[in-house]
Amino acid sequence: PDQVNLVRRAYYYAEQAHDGQRRRSGEAYVTHPLAVANILADMHMDHQSLMAAMLHDVIEDTPTSADEIEARFGTRIATVVVEVSDDRSLDKATRKLRQIEHAPHLSPEAKLVKLADKICNLRDILSSPPVHWPLQRQQAYFDWSAQVIAGVRGVHPQLEAVFDTLYARRPDRG
Ligand code: ZN
Repeated sequence: PDQVNLVRRAYYYAEQAHDGQRRRSGEAYVTHPLAVANILADMHMDHQSLMAAMLHDVIEDTPTSADEIEARFGTRIATVVVEVSDDRSLDKATRKLRQIEHAPHLSPEAKLVKLADKICNLRDILSSPPVHWPLQRQQAYFDWSAQVIAGVRGVHPQLEAVFDTLYARRPDRG
């Protein structure tokens, strides 16, 4: 159906936009937005949520503009992607603080993407701990993620429980 094609278009767009970028694991970057979209697909979210998930890092991490996403995929999806994008002009510590502050004010769609994104990132750290990340850095990432997710609670209790299960496995003593 058309909706499947729209999601596929978002996937191919993300694949091209992130071309040449890699995850810490060495995989092509697009495996990450794909995993985020898969989490939402498993929860039977609509195609627009899946498209936003596919595209959630293209504004933050590639030269793609919000206008371009809007022209190709519409205002709703562009708005959600902008909502979940850090402002790259800010330093990292400020961006991390902003995520915590902004989480409660996100739209429900953006909260879902944020939740699925953090689930994927905790999973990645647990399944292949970044070799150059000392234990404290991994713990700090888990704790910061939990602070962000505290701001989206109520949007999807089942996914929040998935997050909590991962957080319960927060690395300790390496
Ligand atoms: Zn992401």
